[in-house]
Amino acid sequence: MSYASLTGKTAIVTGGSRGIGRQICAKLSEYGVNIVINYAGNDKEAELTKDLCLMKNPHVALVKADVTKIKYCERIFEICEKNFGPPDILINNAGITRDNLIMRMTPEDFDAVLGVNLRGAFNCVKLAFRPMSKKRSGRIINIASVVGIAGNAGQANYAASKAGLIGLTKSAAKEFAKRGITVNAIAPGYIETDMTSGLSDELKAEMLKTIPLGRVGRSEDVAAAVAFLCSDEAAYITGQVLCVDGGMYM
Ligand code: NDP
Repeated sequence: MSYASLTGKTAIVTGGSRGIGRQICAKLSEYGVNIVINYAGNDKEAELTKDLCLMKNPHVALVKADVTKIKYCERIFEICEKNFGPPDILINNAGITRDNLIMRMTPEDFDAVLGVNLRGAFNCVKLAFRPMSKKRSGRIINIASVVGIAGNAGQANYAASKAGLIGLTKSAAKEFAKRGITVNAIAPGYIETDMTSGLSDELKAEMLKTIPLGRVGRSEDVAAAVAFLCSDEAAYITGQVLCVDGGMYM
């Protein structure tokens, strides 16, 4: 697959140091996109993602910044502007989990997950509006989760953050459409990354049984869907939630 329309575009990818974010950075680099890789603190992993991108495209910048604070998000956009100009693409991928049953979940753990997964995305969507609006074009993709649609015991904070992200996606899609900016969400199912590596073997086996395609998802599966939604081929798609889950939720 090749998306010629992506060559020379500029993307900000939050949470790009590991897992799904890393593969999104690598895939977009492959299509000739300039990449601003944001991450929270894991310098070593971020450098690895940068090296992976550099193998495909020399235009890469790293920004360590906590997306929960808008002033740090401003820095991501400043570095983008300085290196490559205004962004054409924003991928809100940064995410965390703090799983527990509601009875045991602390308010701090609830707020922490909402802070990164929802507030972080809101901060970046807000900052992306002006530069994209000036260009009269843009692509925003929010990485949600099937858990945000179906709910999940032990993940009330995470499910609420991802359901909120879907609401943010649809609202932004309606607000931004007149400016030529599309806003969509991808809802991955069970993808093998650091985020899911701590799950018990028993739970992993149970989850596998719920996937009609009979395998766990890969970060590359999500990255391929992101590239499509960023391309001109997806110009008439906005406000949608695309499940990349092997049929887990339908
Ligand atoms: P990982 O845990 O592998 O990576 C998380 C990424 O988010 C890292 O790059 C991390 O940076 C970054 N991050 C965390 N907190 C912040 C913050 N405050 N500011 C900036 N960056 C931050 O996660 P995955 O790759 O598995 O998940 C990526 C996205 O996909 C998440 O939104 C997740 O909810 C979603 N998702 C994942 C699924 C799965 O099965 N794995 C399923 C459904 C959705 P650092 O390395 O510096 O810590």
